[in-house]
Amino acid sequence: MAEILEAIVTGERKALGALPVPEFYRGVTVHADEVEMFAGMPTRQKDPRRSLHLDHIRTPEVGPGEALIAVMASSINFNTVWSAIFEPRPTFAFLKRYGQTSASAGRHDQPFHVVGSDLSGVVLRVGPGVNAWRPGDEVVAHCLDVELERPDGHDDSMLDPQQRIWGFETNYGGLAELALVKANQLMHKADHLTWEEAASPGLVNSTAYRQLVSRNGACMKQGDVVLIWGASGGLGSFATQLVLRGGGIPVCVVSSAAKANVCRAMGAELIIDRAAEDYRFWADEDTQNPKEWKRFGTRIRELTGGEDPDIVFEHPGRETFGASVYVARRGGTIITCASTSGYNHQYDNRYLWMSLKRIVGTHFANYREAWEANRLIMKGRIHPTLSVVYPLERSGQATYDLHRNLHQGKVGVRCLAPQEGLGVRNPEMRARHLDDINRFRLD
Ligand code: NAP
Repeated sequence: MAEILEAIVTGERKALGALPVPEFYRGVTVHADEVEMFAGMPTRQKDPRRSLHLDHIRTPEVGPGEALIAVMASSINFNTVWSAIFEPRPTFAFLKRYGQTSASAGRHDQPFHVVGSDLSGVVLRVGPGVNAWRPGDEVVAHCLDVELERPDGHDDSMLDPQQRIWGFETNYGGLAELALVKANQLMHKADHLTWEEAASPGLVNSTAYRQLVSRNGACMKQGDVVLIWGASGGLGSFATQLVLRGGGIPVCVVSSAAKANVCRAMGAELIIDRAAEDYRFWADEDTQNPKEWKRFGTRIRELTGGEDPDIVFEHPGRETFGASVYVARRGGTIITCASTSGYNHQYDNRYLWMSLKRIVGTHFANYREAWEANRLIMKGRIHPTLSVVYPLERSGQATYDLHRNLHQGKVGVRCLAPQEGLGVRNPEMRARHLDDINRFRLD
């Protein structure tokens, strides 16, 4: 591994194809024999620092259409929280089901699961049939793993019946020194960014792009008012930028003054601090409180000069969904990709049908959407929102930060990168965008 790292850091990347691939590498895992370790505990008490391990993993064979990547950096996504707390179910069920589909997929069905769905790094090997990429290429990887053997996914690969999220529903993910991906997950790394910055937007930026911009999502247009829950979080920090860049009007919801400030610094003007204003959308475990939906809607109108949101960017789920349906404008869209606070949603359907609103489900992004989202990063139009970077050994703590909502923007992880700040190939462009790139840094 040392030789590989040296070749990357000294710029001798073209030699990588000739260097031997290590038999083992270090990767962050959950273990199949520990899936009951948090049984009976409330979700909040489940601690990813206990369930995530740093193991030596045998390097998998590189199959047709695949690539083996030397991972310089990765980032934490909420799916690693779900893997680490074994909710809503252990991810080993995904690996088992995938493993049964073919002999080659059987490599993924292991008693360990190397997690992580983002990376920046360098191609080490490509499998048979891969022509678009070669050893030495500097890349990021999006997390759509897809077979496309059936017709269903050929308009939109997210509709393929064999669609999976790499590093969550497949093994050999990005929180590791090496990672196995399909070659059609690869995209060019932005050359004005460091490894850890480049690794951080992938999953959330692509998801927010499809959710808001794509015709598969809410198809946002100029002037749209967009209510963004968690506007300084992983998804939200990209949603806010996409709305501002696309000529929309974000209404950012956050839970602290510091988070409000970072939204303001991104250019948002309309901000609601849900903690300070103390919205309680539920009277108790089973009963919603429509008066609070109304108070929230009134606050949005105060900020917008009387307008309701054309689009509600939803992901908190159960806790906020009733309010989201209520506040969307007549004919508006509630676009949802998640249910962080619970997936059994309740809302008053009268506000949906009588006001001709739509609820649209969305999930990650197809290759084209991920490519477009990455293109915006490469052109310096959308920026990483990295707040802090941990070494690979501290991935448990990094995941804990997300689980406890202690973070802002994205939490990065150094994998092979020996220090922060490496990997920049275009310092002039970086200098032009430095304030934007560093906006979320907590240093
Ligand atoms: P994140 O970085 O933790 O950000 C989420 C933000 O939501 C938090 O910063 C928090 O902001 C806000 N929030 C959390 N709980 C809330 C609640 N009960 N009520 C209101 N706001 C709440 O996570 P993320 O990366 O943005 O991901 C968010 C969710 O989307 C996760 O469940 C994740 O699994 C899912 N996701 C799905 C996809 C997909 O493809 N389907 C892709 C990415 C993420 P404040 O405290 O400041 O309000």
